[in-house]
Amino acid sequence: MPEPLLRPGAELLTPRRLLELDRQHVWHPYAPMPGRRDPLVVASASGVRLRLAEPAHGTSELVDGMSSWWAALHGYNHPVLNEAARAQLDRMSHVMFGGLTHEPAVRLAARLVEITPEGLEHVFLADSGSVSVEVAVKMCLQYWRSSGRPEKRRLLTWRGGYHGDTWTPMSVCDPDGGMHSLWSGVLPEQVFADAPPPGFDAEPDPVYEAHLRELVERHAHEVAAVIVEPVVQNAGGMRFHSPGYLRLLRRLCDEHDVLLVFDEIATGFGRTGALFAADHADVTPDVLCLGKALTGGYLTMAAALCTPRVADGISRGEVPVLAHGPTFMGNPLAAAVACASVDLLLGQDWQAEVKRIETGLRNGLAEAAGVPGVRDVRVLGAIGVVQLDAPLDAAGMAAATEAAVREGVWLRPFGDLVYTMPPFVTDDEDLALICRAVRAAAEAAGGKRA
Ligand SMILES: *Cc1c(COP(=O)(O)O)cnc(C)c1O
Repeated sequence: MPEPLLRPGAELLTPRRLLELDRQHVWHPYAPMPGRRDPLVVASASGVRLRLAEPAHGTSELVDGMSSWWAALHGYNHPVLNEAARAQLDRMSHVMFGGLTHEPAVRLAARLVEITPEGLEHVFLADSGSVSVEVAVKMCLQYWRSSGRPEKRRLLTWRGGYHGDTWTPMSVCDPDGGMHSLWSGVLPEQVFADAPPPGFDAEPDPVYEAHLRELVERHAHEVAAVIVEPVVQNAGGMRFHSPGYLRLLRRLCDEHDVLLVFDEIATGFGRTGALFAADHADVTPDVLCLGKALTGGYLTMAAALCTPRVADGISRGEVPVLAHGPTFMGNPLAAAVACASVDLLLGQDWQAEVKRIETGLRNGLAEAAGVPGVRDVRVLGAIGVVQLDAPLDAAGMAAATEAAVREGVWLRPFGDLVYTMPPFVTDDEDLALICRAVRAAAEAAGGKRA
């Protein structure tokens, strides 16, 4: 008989054994198998701190500068969210959503309708951000099919975007960053505009606006929807753009019978200084995707919200249903925590907190502009970005990460970016520490650029 990997009843794995098993069996994000570098082992987390199972580079606690990929806006192990999860766990952690409903999902949907831009009234609860993008796209394509225009099935977006890792989202990710060349002939070919000119405060560029207009006009007959991340392009390069382009897209879509989808999976729930990035432009999309911070980083859940126009169009069609129904749709545990997270956020002066973090990041990162190899430093809301003048290779990324860890901070630099989007509960002292770590990471990267 082969030796069991884990003896039944074995006590906690030692960090060393855990890493051995990890290396042999566990596939990590964006990594080969086996991974080339050992991940850090986190034993627990609370507030803004990750506690390591074993000290790394002289530290056993790291201040989290990443909010676990935009999600943990209230920090970890929050008593209010813990209590919401516990209370729901005692009722039921899950029941199917076909033919059944329950208070956490209904309460969450109603709450999302209340706080998102006016006009979005129907909510499809999905189980991850990528799936909510799939659902949003399915809604748009089906809307046009139901309206007798099945030829409208392509998507239009701008370069530099990121919309998730399943197939349809991949097809609208930046063609270079999303490795479209690897998948040519496999991914549906979408219509790409140039990346929007940078700068949240920059006046919209008339030349770029004409480019968008021309592209929408030329492809409107075959395009079902324009899909973009409003105001901040996140994993595709951490770039900010003028809300003016969103107003233009809304006008163009209305004029040319194209639907507009905003992917606010990263920007939703206050991150950019407005509750939703669409609020900066005062624009309502036809479909809105939410995820990441929806449950305060506790559980996986996302949502696609749409207007009555989209819902009616689908429901009046030849096939009058949206044929989508994830097994864990509307998961009560996630929905209950999401409700608690939204209440927790809106029950405080969250704008003041985000403003405070914005100021802290501006002050703390200003000096990074002088670091050799740094091309740009930019801050919007609770997002701080240091862009290098060349992308990091694997060794550069490891050096930058290690430099941050030495400062006692968790960052995950990628491409030409060292960036942070800390939990909103990060206090000024920890924020200053994060800024120091970003600078240290940029300095360490400086010598090790590809
Ligand atoms: C993270 C992200 C997604 C994908 O969400 P997952 O939950 O990882 O599937 C989609 N769009 C944007 C803008 C994101 O930041």
